[in-house]
Amino acid sequence: MYTYRNLQEDFSLLSKKGARVGSVGNSVLNNRIYYAHTGSDSGSQIIVTGGIHARENVTSLLVVKQAYRHLNCAMGIYFVPMLNPDGAVLIERGWRHVGRYTSMVRQINGSDDFSLWKANVRGVDLNNNFDAKFGLGKGNLTKPSSHGYIGKYPFSEPESAAIRDFTLKVKPSYTVSYHAKGREVYWYFGQDNARDKVMASKIARYLDYKRVDGDMQSAGGYKDWCVLQGISAVTIEIGKDELSHPLCEGDVAEDIERNLDLPQKIHLWNKNF
Ligand SMILES: [Zn+2]
Repeated sequence: MYTYRNLQEDFSLLSKKGARVGSVGNSVLNNRIYYAHTGSDSGSQIIVTGGIHARENVTSLLVVKQAYRHLNCAMGIYFVPMLNPDGAVLIERGWRHVGRYTSMVRQINGSDDFSLWKANVRGVDLNNNFDAKFGLGKGNLTKPSSHGYIGKYPFSEPESAAIRDFTLKVKPSYTVSYHAKGREVYWYFGQDNARDKVMASKIARYLDYKRVDGDMQSAGGYKDWCVLQGISAVTIEIGKDELSHPLCEGDVAEDIERNLDLPQKIHLWNKNF
């Protein structure tokens, strides 16, 4: 399992190796949501995120590996591997380690096994908490849960508000959100933009994943919100669909390999469009 501690160790190493390291903001429990920037400060930027769903921590590992891979790449890329650090702490260390939320998470979960938990420690599914058809998604819930709860209002959670503010500041030309599982590329959120579809096709073909054009059942996600801001965006689901959660590194070794160079590929395709 890739942990918050692992992330901190990797970030001190990334910093030593020349990445510019900082924080997008803090979580409910005041854990830092780290970013590493590689390449140019000026010109087009890409934001790559992972770990918004706690049980999908293999995506955090992937985004960290991408950051190392791009240390010498000239193109500007922000890597944000763990958007939900509290969720990562919960699945790794258990309910005793989430401060004043211990009784709440136990009550919500109904058991002490948190290996399938996706939400933050307030039981909000951060990828349903963005202001994009808020509360209209299939499977959206209106009370705290291990997954699917939209929160009281859009951006009620410090984690989603932090990546919103960061994105508005960076003004990226493209964002990539990593999830697991299914080997799929989602891009559509009602936009009339042929270019977005072509980019999603290129990504899907490069990865040998399936491009999914979307049936508009998702809502409140980071990718959805980016599209509404006019930022081209994809959600990429790594890992074969027949795997079961929680995934481990060995389950997605091949997916990590396939995705390692994707950020610089996206930069090139975007530029040469
Ligand atoms: Zn997910």
